[in-house]
Amino acid sequence: MSDTLFQKIIDREIPAEIVYEDELSLAFKDINPVAPNHILIIPKKHIAKIADAKLEDKALLGHLMYVAGEIARKLGIEDAFRLVVNNGADAQQTVFHLHIHLIAGRPFNWPPG
Ligand code: 5GP
Repeated sequence: MSDTLFQKIIDREIPAEIVYEDELSLAFKDINPVAPNHILIIPKKHIAKIADAKLEDKALLGHLMYVAGEIARKLGIEDAFRLVVNNGADAQQTVFHLHIHLIAGRPFNWPPG
C-alpha cells in the first residue's frame, strides 16, 4: 500500500486531467508542464521507482511503454517526443510512484541535462 499523490489521483481523491486509462495504467497531464505536451504515465500498481521493479513487473513495464506510444499517436506527436523516468531523489524524482514523463511540442537538446 502507498499513500502517494499519484495513488490519490488513481483513487480519484484529487483531480487530474486524465488522458488515458486501462486496467493496468493511468495517464494524466503534468500539473507543471515543461513542454506544450507533458503527460505522466503511471502503473496502478504501486512501484516506488524503476529500480524497485521486480521480475514479475516486466510485462507491466512493457505495457507502460506501449501506452506511451499509443498516447503519442492519439495526440499526433508520434514523430517527436521524449520519455523520461527519474529514479531517486538525486535524479530529481519527487513523487515516489513510478511514472514515465511523455514530453513533446518543443525542441529537444542532447545531452538532456
Ligand atoms: P518527478 O520529479 O518525480 O520525476 O515528477 C513528478 C511530476 O509530478 C512533476 O513533473 C510534477 O510537476 C508532477 N506533479 C506533482 N504534483 C502533481 C499533481 O498534483 N498533479 C499532477 N497532475 N502532476 C503533479
